[in-house]
Amino acid sequence: MTLILTSDHLQQIQSHAQQTYPHECCGLILGHLEGDRKQVLEIHATQNAWSGDNFDTKRRYTIDPYDMMLVQKSSRDRNLNIIGIYHSHPDCEAVPSECDRLAAWPQYSYLIVSVHQGVAQDCLCWTLDDEDQFQREPFTISHST
Ligand SMILES: [Zn+2]
Repeated sequence: MTLILTSDHLQQIQSHAQQTYPHECCGLILGHLEGDRKQVLEIHATQNAWSGDNFDTKRRYTIDPYDMMLVQKSSRDRNLNIIGIYHSHPDCEAVPSECDRLAAWPQYSYLIVSVHQGVAQDCLCWTLDDEDQFQREPFTISHST
């Protein structure tokens, strides 16, 4: 599968990541599956609701299941689906951590943006394979309409 998003979508993710730096940002990727393409239509920023050990949102993120349910419902009403999740890695590579892997759902695209010194840099996309391991997923930036 290839994730197709516009430069606007990417910019929304990057600016969200820069705003929350040095903490991780997270959000939902909404769109459609079309054959072997995952067409992104909307980016929905969410709060990082991680509240585990010492509130370490510099290294962790979690999306409130209630938020997720609300978005799922409103997007379904508009004929959209949640097709992926994005989050940032402050001062760290755009490579999923073991925590990311354990929390990941099959089929979703996981877009990770690395932020160095407050500036968004690399963005990589990942998806789980049949063995629950992350593999790179190609993505294409289309022109905004
Ligand atoms: Zn992560």
